[in-house]
Amino acid sequence: MANVELREVTKSYDNQGTLAVKPLTIEIKDKEFVVIVGPSGCGKSTTLRMIAGLESISGGGMYIDNELVNYIDSKDRDIAMVFQNYALYPYMTIAENIGFPLKMQKAPKALIKKRVKEVAEILQLTPFLKRKPDALSGGQKQRVALGRAMVRQPKVFLLDEPLSNLDAKLRVEMRAEIVKLHRELETTFIYVTHDQTEAMTMGDRIVVLRDGHLEQMDTPINLYESPKTKFVAEFIGSPQMNVFPTQLLYENLDVVAVSFNGKGVELGQACKDRLKTDVMAEQIYAGIRPEHLILTNETDPAAIRVQVDNVEHLGHNVNVFFTISDRPEALAATLAVEDAPAVGDFIYLKADANRWHLFDRHSELSLLEPLSL
Ligand code: ADP
Repeated sequence: MANVELREVTKSYDNQGTLAVKPLTIEIKDKEFVVIVGPSGCGKSTTLRMIAGLESISGGGMYIDNELVNYIDSKDRDIAMVFQNYALYPYMTIAENIGFPLKMQKAPKALIKKRVKEVAEILQLTPFLKRKPDALSGGQKQRVALGRAMVRQPKVFLLDEPLSNLDAKLRVEMRAEIVKLHRELETTFIYVTHDQTEAMTMGDRIVVLRDGHLEQMDTPINLYESPKTKFVAEFIGSPQMNVFPTQLLYENLDVVAVSFNGKGVELGQACKDRLKTDVMAEQIYAGIRPEHLILTNETDPAAIRVQVDNVEHLGHNVNVFFTISDRPEALAATLAVEDAPAVGDFIYLKADANRWHLFDRHSELSLLEPLSL
């Protein structure tokens, strides 16, 4: 059990001033499941490895349980790390692999045996304890790696893309298993992934990194409902949010509408109420999620007419792709399967007027106050 705090932590690999991690301040609470997510190269692994003590810290303070650990050896930080490639010892049995960290600590044999048995039971590995890693499936190997982390009862679990070597179905199963494990162990988990779905489904809170800096740290629902930046808006959600450059339209100095495919469409009252008080911009980015575009007909005053370029069938619904005047790349609308149009059809769509996201064209920061949930 431990909280983990990064205060203005930086990392420079080349000592020439380029920072792989820019001053990063995050506070992870005791027993929290925090996911660090972001595109490849944004500094996720570096951050995790600095927490683990596997990478030196160039600046700032790293605290575990309110204790400065910058100069404390990895093995003395009471953390356990699970890697993507499992890192199991091929010549040892599963029992020996799981018990290895305790053996290194010179724990009594009887204790090792007892802990290995307990851990194997939680992870449903008991039938495999005498086997070698080669005789196990990918998912089972990953559970052994988790077991080896659990056996020491560390204060913090660090997991670096632990599921990326598994096939899609197994990944979904292991996602649920790891969340369950976190609930049972009541320990702090810090989990790195580039996969936003993994982040959204597993994390109590999510840290979104971009180019070594923090874009937003929030709950999954807040990231979805109230992204602070255009980057977060586009990173969280699948298919990704439709974001395009456009204009805000004013009436007597009040924002009333947004231009959507050349047409002024009114913003909903709830959306207008959330506008930051100092908004004066005309040129903005507007965003609407595919699931907040609704099929309508030409008599609807909010309707825009678009031609369907592509249709993706997902079973229970369809993603329909089309382009608008403000953006050359395709936009998406998620529609019910009964409403699926054919490629080439002209359809009428409107945005749910209260689900618009608006961003400053230059800073790319949201122009809306966060939704209070
Ligand atoms: P992520 O885990 O998000 O993919 P990393 O933390 O691995 O990102 O990398 C962040 C940045 O630091 C990248 O630009 C990467 O090239 C650089 N980097 C990572 N490890 C090293 C290293 N050992 N030496 C030099 N640069 C590195």
